[in-house]
Amino acid sequence: MKATMMDYPLTLDHILERAGKQFAPIEIVSRMPDQSLHRYTYGDFYRRARQLAEALQKIGLQKGERVGTLMWNHFAHLEAYLGIPVSGGVLHTLNLRLHPSEIAYIINHAQDRFLIIDDILLPLYEKIKDHVKIERVFVVSLTGQPIPPGYESYEDLLKLATGEFVYPQITENDPAGMCYTSGTTGNPKGVVYSHRSIVLHCFSSALLDGMALAQKDVVTPVVPMFHVNAWGLPFTCAMVGSKQVFPGPHLDPISLLDLFETEKVTITAGVPTIWMGILHALNKEKDRWKLQNDMLLVVGGSAAAEALIRGFDQHGLRLRQAWGMTETSPLGTAAGIKSNLLDENEDKIYELSATQGYAVPFVDTRVCRDGKALPWDENSIGELEVRGPWIAASYYKEQDRDHNWTADGWFKTGDMVTINEDGYVTIVDRTKDLIKSGGEWISSVALENTLMGHPAVAEAAAVGIPHPKWQERPLMVVVLHQDHTTTPAELNAFLNSKFEKWMLPDSYVFVKEIPRSSAGKFLKRALREQYQDWNWE
Ligand code: ADP
Repeated sequence: MKATMMDYPLTLDHILERAGKQFAPIEIVSRMPDQSLHRYTYGDFYRRARQLAEALQKIGLQKGERVGTLMWNHFAHLEAYLGIPVSGGVLHTLNLRLHPSEIAYIINHAQDRFLIIDDILLPLYEKIKDHVKIERVFVVSLTGQPIPPGYESYEDLLKLATGEFVYPQITENDPAGMCYTSGTTGNPKGVVYSHRSIVLHCFSSALLDGMALAQKDVVTPVVPMFHVNAWGLPFTCAMVGSKQVFPGPHLDPISLLDLFETEKVTITAGVPTIWMGILHALNKEKDRWKLQNDMLLVVGGSAAAEALIRGFDQHGLRLRQAWGMTETSPLGTAAGIKSNLLDENEDKIYELSATQGYAVPFVDTRVCRDGKALPWDENSIGELEVRGPWIAASYYKEQDRDHNWTADGWFKTGDMVTINEDGYVTIVDRTKDLIKSGGEWISSVALENTLMGHPAVAEAAAVGIPHPKWQERPLMVVVLHQDHTTTPAELNAFLNSKFEKWMLPDSYVFVKEIPRSSAGKFLKRALREQYQDWNWE
């Protein structure tokens, strides 16, 4: 017997058509460099994204060729998100926070043919342009200034379109986008998303227990569109028809809170650093902003401390933790509370909220050590392995990276975790950040997240530093809140209730700032290098 259903392709042209036909009056708002707000609708977006697709075909873009974007979060970037893939091209978002030499490496590795860039980012491109072979560069004038000589105007590119655009033949497994991991180990690696993987990721992340997106929502992706497709939000919002509100280059707490208030934002997403800044601003000026009652803040990219989640609750705001990677599109798990656990006491609920959550539909999770799957309990620590339709099966042009996948086809995440009886994943550490002391492991994430609950501590990063006797011992690097003081002894006493004595940091360093990666994560490698000769005496 054969199933009798249609074989309808899961391609992004459907999302674009739907946005234009079903949601034409819904607004898309973007903060410009001068803080003013640009407003248009999905109807305008639909017309311009199709113009872009047609124009790219007119200038000779072939199927599967890459178009790079070097842009902040705003309407023109959204046009590129859909316009490039539906023209048959591949959207390659470039992370503007990387070192210019790394951006050049990535452009060359991906062989980007064209580039679309914000005018305010041209100084960055000037630093790399002699090291890359981009055929034509199209500039989006966000400032209203004329396009400098040597560059072409994005608006002029759109004018090449006649309105007669015909979608090219695309199958759902054709490439639609690509993203490079930040390369914390070795060179950055490219992940190539397919139309199908993006569409299925949209479905799963829109679910209530994922990022909970509905048509009625007003959504601000604070996470940059050059970081894992802003967690897929621009695509998912276009699919469900939510109003999108883009912050442009203004990611400071005050600008964001103003935007959340005036545009009545209901869902937003970003890394913990952003929410730490926002919480600080809210604590400082309690009644300054009137935010939507049931606003949801999705946090991911690195671990959100329980103290952060509790802090937002005091302002009536829900923080939901989610876990993912460039290789997983990114959504893999989300920390909603299952109904059988709702009766647990408040502390347990917070504890669960501070885990990375349980797998979203169509992502399989397992925890493995020495090639064996471990039981789901709080004591079995191993590497998290995942598989699913939006999880990478290889890296672009990197056949020798096979060791990132198991023989039976699961992706090895490099995250050391436990999965509890209820399926909740807790990241103990990234494999390379685990502190190995006398043959035992100490979780740097657990130490620092607990310490961030201390009233004097703004930020804390624990790293393993070579030790003559124990192989490694924990050193804690701490940033204190303004006007607060404390001592290592007091901090260890605070940690003592949760950790064995041998797990406590042997030394503390108080600093003004902890170095961070382009995605806002603690740069532990830099800390390890800085303190590698630490004198433990
Ligand atoms: P990279 O940091 O290598 O550039 P990604 O940006 O794709 O790559 O980051 C993926 C990693 O970020 C995960 O493997 C995990 O270590 C970390 N991560 C993501 N979300 C969370 C989270 N909610 N809690 C803790 N760690 C997280």
